[in-house]
Amino acid sequence: MARITVIGSYVTDLTGRTEKLPRPGETVIGRSFTMGPGGKGGNQAVAAARLGSDVTMVTKIGKDVFGEEAVRNFQAEKIRSEYVAVTPDAATGAAIIAVDDQGENMIVVTLGACGTLSADEVQQADAAIASSDYVLVQLETSIEAVEEAVRLAGEHRKPVILNPAPYHPVPEAVWQKVAYATPNETEAEGMTGVTVTDKETADHAARRIQQMGVENVIITLGKKGCYLLEQGQEGRLIPGIEVDAVDTTGAGDAFNGALAHYLGTEPSVEEACYKANVAAALSVTRAGTAPSMARAEEVASWSN
Ligand code: ATP
Repeated sequence: MARITVIGSYVTDLTGRTEKLPRPGETVIGRSFTMGPGGKGGNQAVAAARLGSDVTMVTKIGKDVFGEEAVRNFQAEKIRSEYVAVTPDAATGAAIIAVDDQGENMIVVTLGACGTLSADEVQQADAAIASSDYVLVQLETSIEAVEEAVRLAGEHRKPVILNPAPYHPVPEAVWQKVAYATPNETEAEGMTGVTVTDKETADHAARRIQQMGVENVIITLGKKGCYLLEQGQEGRLIPGIEVDAVDTTGAGDAFNGALAHYLGTEPSVEEACYKANVAAALSVTRAGTAPSMARAEEVASWSN
């Protein structure tokens, strides 16, 4: 079993389905409404926990009904929530999502409480970080939380997986403490200026990311799988798994949570990437983000 600390966002997804999306100023009648857990941090925590990792979540929620629901969700997924800070000063993050019959969507995400996660609140989780095998971080909380997470992991010599999503520039010193950077094609381009379309351009971008100080780079390539460049080795394309995709939202989160889990259980990074491809492919065959994450038995039966 891998011990993983996830430091990142939690938002409640509020999804309305409608025949057509409203224009500005228009109201349309929706067909259905669902409410569920979301946010990159929360989704990645669910992905790793469902595969069997011992996961601790570090985030911040509001003192409101969405926050209470967040804690219930963490408990249902067997995710440790003792370092989830609760504030009366901000609402729990929410994503207001409208999806039409063509699958087109409009989304307003308000990070709320998790966007204000402070360095002090991350420090509270020092013991969890110290006993982790991997520390998994995204860029959907405050930059000070990211910097503190990476600093503490470095102090305890724990490998950091940084999923630079949604991409925005971070201080160079952060990259120098990252063991695995996991951008998708767009984020890799944001980081390097290289447009990633195939194996050659992925290799080019991954080498530039290594020059920023990152040890190992894994660029996710949608259904094509991922490109792995380990320190001192040749790069390799690890092909994706062919499935009938139903909903690819959250594929990146499924991949990152699974990667953290399998880095802790598989004998090589390449095998961890292969199994993360399988777990992410399973998740795109189902609707939703957190609810679509794969379970250990499914990945095992696929891989055999
Ligand atoms: P999203 O923003 O939709 O959550 P992303 O852009 O962050 O996703 P992708 O590179 O699209 O991330 O996908 C992550 C991983 O999910 C891929 O490396 C692959 O393993 C898997 N994946 C994505 N789309 C498909 C698909 N259509 N079929 C099979 N596997 C897929």
